[in-house]
Amino acid sequence: MALLGALVCCLLLAWRGSPGFGLPLAPESSAPAVGQFWHVTDLHLDPTYHITDDHTKVCASSKGVNASNPGPFGDVLCDSPYHLILSAFDFIKNSGQEASFMIWTGDSPPHVPVHELSTDSVINVIANMTTTIQSVFPNLQVFPALGNHDYWPQDQLPVVTSKVYNAVANLWEPWLDEEAIHTLRKGGFYSQKVSPNLNLRIISLNTNLYYGPNIMTLNQTDPANQFEWLEKTLNTSQQNKEKVYIIAHIPVGYVPHSRNITAMRELYNEKLIDIFRRYSNVIAGQFYGHTHRDSIMVLSDKKGGPVNSLFVAPAVTPVKSVAEKLTNNPGVRLFQYDPHDYKLLDMLQYYLNLTDANLKGESDWKLEYMLTQTYDIEDLQPKSLYALAKQFAVLDSEQFIKYYNYFFVSYDSSAICNGECKSYHVCAIMSLDRISYEDCLKQYYIKHYP
Ligand SMILES: [Zn+2]
Ligand SMILES: [Zn+2]
Repeated sequence: MALLGALVCCLLLAWRGSPGFGLPLAPESSAPAVGQFWHVTDLHLDPTYHITDDHTKVCASSKGVNASNPGPFGDVLCDSPYHLILSAFDFIKNSGQEASFMIWTGDSPPHVPVHELSTDSVINVIANMTTTIQSVFPNLQVFPALGNHDYWPQDQLPVVTSKVYNAVANLWEPWLDEEAIHTLRKGGFYSQKVSPNLNLRIISLNTNLYYGPNIMTLNQTDPANQFEWLEKTLNTSQQNKEKVYIIAHIPVGYVPHSRNITAMRELYNEKLIDIFRRYSNVIAGQFYGHTHRDSIMVLSDKKGGPVNSLFVAPAVTPVKSVAEKLTNNPGVRLFQYDPHDYKLLDMLQYYLNLTDANLKGESDWKLEYMLTQTYDIEDLQPKSLYALAKQFAVLDSEQFIKYYNYFFVSYDSSAICNGECKSYHVCAIMSLDRISYEDCLKQYYIKHYP
């Protein structure tokens, strides 16, 4: 049940010679045409993973159930072996893609019963993943966010400082500045400019404070005063003419696979949506994890005009529960943006076919799709994604059939989602607050499936 719950669960350097220092101006053509950054999420390392004849003992995360087809890169009933995680990072390192930074949206520990972990073991896993990233990418700027599993007991992230917040603040010190470390220690969130000479800021939210199972925040209007801090931070960014990328673990909006369920508590969802709407001209993109699936969302203003693009990245772990039929192949993704205004241009989703990798005994990470190419859209701007969502809504839309296959990272291309299933997906993409979501279901569902 815990597992089920958890699952619902260029370097841009747009270098310009500065005339003030007597350096020559770089010719326009030498500035990179695009900036790039990686997004990895939900690593869920299972340190107990090992190949053995007794399939009930392959990994603690299968909870005594027989692993289905365990190999060196993992099994769909297990969280990630270290070997899988390393293969993902090695792929990124050797991909030939130059990125100016990486975002990492949380959930390092395995899905195991609460009593099998402890504060120290959770910190150990996060430390292991941090030092792995730091040793594979010694020169890469990384912006992490905490996940609901990055705490013990899981989901119970507190509104005041804690041993885990302090530990991650120490571990992430090489990546973050003093002010970021200060708020991270206090409440598990921070903001920081990507680099001093860029007008781009990362805001890393601790949305685990808003997660339904978190009893530490029950009945609180503004846990850890994060809403107040977020508004202040966005306001300052607006005044300084910065652009902001929001990163967090638990996404806003509705879960795509069932009806009328927000990923976080509904009241908090409404509050966040209200803030994001008011500052949509500052926010150039939003990036989440947690669902382990690949999905998009488009935030519209109160009049229904699309104003923000949101992306939920699939997990590195392929884990599923016994009861589930489908899961995801391991995935990592690369975003491309305009280095002048930080508008999102494209997204490249890479994946590992777990079955093939285990059969061959080697990992062959491949490009799964490029967002603009696969859907024939111009860019990743809210208008483009909104128009795409409208195409999805059409009966028997080929575009939506693709989207549903990518939702599971090409795990099973025969999976079908029609009728009710499709209306939940389409409305989760297009409607992030209660009023518009209910409207969408009424309109879309009744119109197509009376
Ligand atoms: Zn997760
Ligand atoms: Zn999670």
